[in-house]
Amino acid sequence: MEKHYKLKNILTHVIESVKKQDFLVYFRKISIVEITDSTIVYGTVSSFMKDNLQAKFNTLVLEASQKELGQKITSISFVVDSTIDNPSNTNAVDCQDFYKEITKSNKIADKKSRNSVSPIEQKAGAHLRYTLNNFVVGADNQLAFSACEAVTKNPGKSYNPLYIYGDVGLGKTHLLQATGNEILRKYKDKKVAYTTADKFITEYVTAVKKRNVEKMREKFREIDVLVIDDVQFLSKKEQTQNELYNIFNLLYDSNKQIIISGDRAPKELTELEPRLRSRFEWGITVDIGKPDFETRLAIIQEKAREKEFMIPQDVSEFIAANVTENVRELEWVLNQMIAEYELTGNTPSLTRIAAKLQKLSFTTDLLWEGRNSGKSRNTSSIKSYEDILDAVSQHFGIEKEGILWENRKKEFMIPRQVSMYLLKTKMHYTYERIGNIFNGRNHASVLYSCNKLEKIIKKDKNLLYEVNAIKDGIGI
Ligand code: ADP
Ligand code: MG
Repeated sequence: MEKHYKLKNILTHVIESVKKQDFLVYFRKISIVEITDSTIVYGTVSSFMKDNLQAKFNTLVLEASQKELGQKITSISFVVDSTIDNPSNTNAVDCQDFYKEITKSNKIADKKSRNSVSPIEQKAGAHLRYTLNNFVVGADNQLAFSACEAVTKNPGKSYNPLYIYGDVGLGKTHLLQATGNEILRKYKDKKVAYTTADKFITEYVTAVKKRNVEKMREKFREIDVLVIDDVQFLSKKEQTQNELYNIFNLLYDSNKQIIISGDRAPKELTELEPRLRSRFEWGITVDIGKPDFETRLAIIQEKAREKEFMIPQDVSEFIAANVTENVRELEWVLNQMIAEYELTGNTPSLTRIAAKLQKLSFTTDLLWEGRNSGKSRNTSSIKSYEDILDAVSQHFGIEKEGILWENRKKEFMIPRQVSMYLLKTKMHYTYERIGNIFNGRNHASVLYSCNKLEKIIKKDKNLLYEVNAIKDGIGI
């Protein structure tokens, strides 16, 4: 297991320095076959991948390894790891999943990793990029930030529990994980567990099924800091709430730190048991509000700096003035600019960004339409389903065959649903016709997939933006 976490941390450094597409295409699946004081042998899926990684990314992976494990690592090498696909090989990381895990909205990422890693083992490892240092402090999150800082100085003693609430995309997960990471960094012997209400529910339900709830309790009893994100999702899950209540009491009574987030104040979580709600209020509750202009500007600049991307001052001001609701949207606009720059070499300009933002406000019909872009709307008639499949597979960095065929692997599901959804809503294919393209699936199964995706993108803005980006990319 330990190798696995080292590998994930190393990959986090790799992701910081390579383009998404390169990461997904060249890293695919990777493992640590052997690790000594000074060398690491990485495993790859094939000799083709091995040669490519060696030729293109040797230095970069070496540097990432050194960042994680120190300069004592002097050399790395790549071999073919024949056991890499073996489910029992816990030292392998599927880069597709991992990339999504650390970049996508937490909900989707959580669902993907739900069955593979239990929350306690996950620690805060997967999101090391969230730190208190790279959290921009402004008037509307100052209190939440200070409370987190205080908790890192004195876990379990100053504010317990710490409850942070606010709307989506305002930095709750960032703060929670940054606090967990900081505690881990400061007190190496403390056990920090990050989980989400969703994951907690799954873990509990599984434990009940397997009749080992006691074991689960034991595991939680041992931790020093419990971070639990998005507790609003516990609503109507009375039994799980009851279990959390017990765990809460166990930890609280032994002065273990508990950090919680929700989308509302505890009082307003009316679908939660009153006794649990009231526990949430025992320590300190702080809310995070929408950042003001200055803070938004500073956030864009911070994110651009992290990605080593230059944005002219007027462009960042324009974005800060127009994207006001949610920090995730700010990041999305920035990522769009970076993608455009990488694809076309166009540096960000006011005109281009204005056109982009105009599209942003055009989200009434889920997939917004390009306004006055000069593009005729019926260009779709000259597109074929192949164009859509190509665009989707390219966007997600996966094989077209995987999307088309009955491949039940998780990483193909969303791309498959996206393809079907675009064919239905933008190309106006019938469900039957789509079914035929997708390996002869029946009408009902296509209908189900389209509805399912629609439900997901109503909630998951990030994925909605991705679908829009694909749509815009092919001009349908
Ligand atoms: P929430 O959990 O409240 O929905 P997240 O923590 O996932 O929001 O934040 C969404 C994105 O915005 C993350 O990438 C996060 O790093 C970024 N973010 C939000 N607030 C800030 C901030 N004040 N400084 C830097 N990044 C921020
Ligand atoms: Mg969150």
